[in-house]
Amino acid sequence: MLIYLVNPQVPRSRDEEKKGLYPPLGLLYIATVLKERGYEVKIYELNVESSNKLIHDVQREQPDVVGITVHTVSFPIVKSLIKELRQSSPSTTIVCGGPHATLCPEDFINIADIVVRGEGEEVARDLPNLLHAIKELKTRAMKTTLVVQGASPNIDELPIPDRALLNTSYYGENIGVLVTSRGCPFNCLFCCVRYLFSRAYRARSPMKVLQEVLYLVDRFNVHRVKFVDDEFTVVRSRVREICQLLKEYGVGVTWSLPNGIRVDTVDERLLRDMSEAGCDLVWFGIESGSERVLKYIRKGIDLEKARGVIKIAKDYGIRVGGFFMIGAPGETLDEFKKIIDLIPKLDLDYIHFSIATPYPNTEFWNWVQVHGRFITLDYQYFEKTFIFETPDYTIRDRLRAVELLERELGYYELSDDVKIIEELLTRT
Ligand code: SF4
Repeated sequence: MLIYLVNPQVPRSRDEEKKGLYPPLGLLYIATVLKERGYEVKIYELNVESSNKLIHDVQREQPDVVGITVHTVSFPIVKSLIKELRQSSPSTTIVCGGPHATLCPEDFINIADIVVRGEGEEVARDLPNLLHAIKELKTRAMKTTLVVQGASPNIDELPIPDRALLNTSYYGENIGVLVTSRGCPFNCLFCCVRYLFSRAYRARSPMKVLQEVLYLVDRFNVHRVKFVDDEFTVVRSRVREICQLLKEYGVGVTWSLPNGIRVDTVDERLLRDMSEAGCDLVWFGIESGSERVLKYIRKGIDLEKARGVIKIAKDYGIRVGGFFMIGAPGETLDEFKKIIDLIPKLDLDYIHFSIATPYPNTEFWNWVQVHGRFITLDYQYFEKTFIFETPDYTIRDRLRAVELLERELGYYELSDDVKIIEELLTRT
């Protein structure tokens, strides 16, 4: 069986451009499981390769399955891509998975053949049965879509994602990116992780993490590793063991936590162990400068504690970045200003602001419907600009928040993209 897996083009911010492209690890786990089953798998990276090449190859090779990972922002692109794929090879089964398929399977009805919600490895293992089921259904109805819920696998038993399936030259030093856990036991109102991976935290054992790092070092000459878990430090004893193993085996890599961790999941002992094991950069999810907002969004961190933890990390030679949001549920412009006051006191090395974005069918989405209004539901604007407002924090206020960031902190990363909203407003 020939299977193509596609990572569609995702519009990226200036900050993301600077970080470079990350390998599509979710897709790679699936690809590795399929390869183990003896299938021929090819991965298409459309953030680099042209979709014309994909269409051309589909026409020529008529793969049995094309699997596509879909984010909300890439859904419009994927929809038109699927149209072209259907024309090129009508008999190919189209399978969609990833965050948007999980949150919004109804968007794929009569577009994809199979929609996979949640984690896809167990579904990949059952692929022949699924293909049989969809063929049976199609003999009865012309158009149909099968929605399946992927079971959460024991992630310690999953194979190490086989980077040889990728064109590694696309990812540069980011080939050293890896994930060691899934799920998050916390319950922040704005966050999607629980919908994608559940609140059950499942982590690779320290020895398996070491194996993957050693594989990256041996096979790809990696000197720098990035752990991109949603929350790497939930179980401190596990992180300490990972640090211990990295030192014991003299692995000699430096490493970072670019996706952010909570300030209340680390302490001095852990930060010291991390620093001694090669960690030189940590990002913390701080989100707001208002204790009230932090409580309201159930982030529940203490800003004094954040300040203390940042200082300790820096004392151990770890550079520190802070993630913040504009437009968290319950925020007002006055409360946003508290971030501006807070940031100089935190003495961070880097800051990053994102636009709070409610994704379809989530608690945040429902919150907007009760407390405010959407300006647009067009997915192409998600993450880029303010897609909703509330009576006490209007779009004008949100744009003022961006101006404040520019003027007070010299932060210009959002400036270009958010202005699209001015144009959208004139249409509403
Ligand atoms: S924001 Fe971080 S801590 Fe909160 S639920 Fe999401 S992953 Fe967990």
